[in-house]
Amino acid sequence: MALYAELHRHLGGSVVPRVLWRYFQRHSEEMVSRFDDYPAFEEFYTKPRNTLDEYLELHTLVESVQTVETLPYFIYRLLRGAYIFENLAYLELRYTPYLRTPEHLSQSERIDKMAEIVDVVGNASQIPEYPIVTSQILCMHSRLPYEVNKAIIDLASQSKKFVCAIDVAGGDRYYAERLDEWIKLYEYALSLGVNTTGHLYETTDGSYPELLPFLKRIGHGIQIPLRHPQLLPDLARRGQCLEVCPTTYMKTGTLDDIRQLKIVFDKCFEAGVDIAICTDNAGLHNVRLPFEYENLLTYDIISFQQLQACQDAAFKHAFASPYHQRPASLLSGIINPQPGKVMA
Ligand SMILES: [Zn+2]
Repeated sequence: MALYAELHRHLGGSVVPRVLWRYFQRHSEEMVSRFDDYPAFEEFYTKPRNTLDEYLELHTLVESVQTVETLPYFIYRLLRGAYIFENLAYLELRYTPYLRTPEHLSQSERIDKMAEIVDVVGNASQIPEYPIVTSQILCMHSRLPYEVNKAIIDLASQSKKFVCAIDVAGGDRYYAERLDEWIKLYEYALSLGVNTTGHLYETTDGSYPELLPFLKRIGHGIQIPLRHPQLLPDLARRGQCLEVCPTTYMKTGTLDDIRQLKIVFDKCFEAGVDIAICTDNAGLHNVRLPFEYENLLTYDIISFQQLQACQDAAFKHAFASPYHQRPASLLSGIINPQPGKVMA
């Protein structure tokens, strides 16, 4: 059995429509009353949006129900699905902890509550019957003030048991207004020994070469091979990996045709830049990781051999994996004992 590593999945977008609908049926008649039936809800929840902004707006629907009380409910179902249907051995889950704290509190009270959220997510992720190695990536957010984003880095640095990295999310065209701040924040994270990724070069508005040197991995980054291939040798030299999430670009209107990703994979393979294939928002898309793999093969975007290279890359670039290789290579010695060795 092949086991997979998932490096880019948002907690908010990880709830599959049926689980969210069932939650509303149990806890929110008001939400249920907005839709005729389940298919109408699923259609609303998973339909493509015109822009990244519209798409991100949908996250707020899930964020509003993911509180300190309900997070264990959603995380249990997330890991159960990931283990049973996706063969995940390793999962990095990302979210902005500040956005899971009660809105009526003051900024400093909300900052103080973030550590509790990290603990709740961390403890809820350890489920003996669904043993997946999990870790958290804490997302800074393009709409949050500097103090909150800095506190997110501090929390990542103090919570290494549960947190493996920081990220920036919330729409890549908003970074430009405060670029100096983002550079300062990333420098600060690296000075504390915190791993870094960031949503960059996702859309044509997200090109910030100034930020690239601070990242160990790049969230999406597809516009680099598509529009700025001259940057690829630098990425290869720094050993940076792209976290490519194929279905996202169709849901956000970033690409018109998934086959445009062939250029992304071809150029990265040519330049020696690793790619990890990820889901981004498996629930919101209703597309699980093995289907992302299969889609890329179906559309002749990559070969089986390239798929396996990407699956290897996911383990290699995993921030919290103790092995950095696929579990298959650890298991092969057990399945195929050395020739000449007599089995008892
Ligand atoms: Zn993302």
